Amino acid sequence: MGNMPNTAAEGGNTLGRKIVDTGAFVVFFVLLAILLADLFEAYAERTPAQRIVWPLLALPLALLISDLLSGIVHFLADNYGTEDTLFVGKRFCKPFRDHHLDPTGITRRGFIEANANTCILSLIPLAVVVWLGPYETAAGVFWATLGTLVLITVLLTNQFHKWAHLDNPPRPIAALQRWGLILTKENHDLHHIAPYDTYYCITTGWLNPLFDRLGVLKVEASAAREKTEAQSRRSE
Ligand SMILES: [Zn+2]
Ligand SMILES: [Zn+2]
Repeated sequence: MGNMPNTAAEGGNTLGRKIVDTGAFVVFFVLLAILLADLFEAYAERTPAQRIVWPLLALPLALLISDLLSGIVHFLADNYGTEDTLFVGKRFCKPFRDHHLDPTGITRRGFIEANANTCILSLIPLAVVVWLGPYETAAGVFWATLGTLVLITVLLTNQFHKWAHLDNPPRPIAALQRWGLILTKENHDLHHIAPYDTYYCITTGWLNPLFDRLGVLKVEASAAREKTEAQSRRSE
């Protein structure tokens, strides 16, 4: 995955950006290793039942929270701000909007390039979860497990999104999609229909049908989306 070809046209992947992105991953994995070592010790003090039940309980909750966060970030990036908005414009607005014009472009991105934005977003929350440790109380271990799984699934959100754009995903990925544990093509394709005004959640897509029915994360029209739609009509 990491050695796929990238072009400068795909999101302006300059050397400076590559250094920042790679650095973010190094810091993320160092912090994650510290946190996992801490949790490993904390679980040694827990009962056998807690060791099994808590991660099993925390994982679906974490996937649900990540799905919600992905929907909020994606909704904001598609509808508000411009490509020139300070910091978030180039990092978030532009890639999400370009993605409507070239949906399969994401499948040509390597792991670091595709996931750097969520990695950068996760760094401060991850540092906080590490800083709050060591986790000694029963409740503390559960919340730390949930926090860790949220951070990992947030980090992997665009990877799940990328896989939803593959026509023939590798077998283990296809199995995760079939079991409904990660975003499926059928679910995500509903976002890629102009005017791109629904199905914003891209971790598992679990919340999309509910939000669509309830009108959550909906805005009738936005200048940003109208611009993307006009661009997509021109490029047809
Ligand atoms: Zn979108
Ligand atoms: Zn997409």
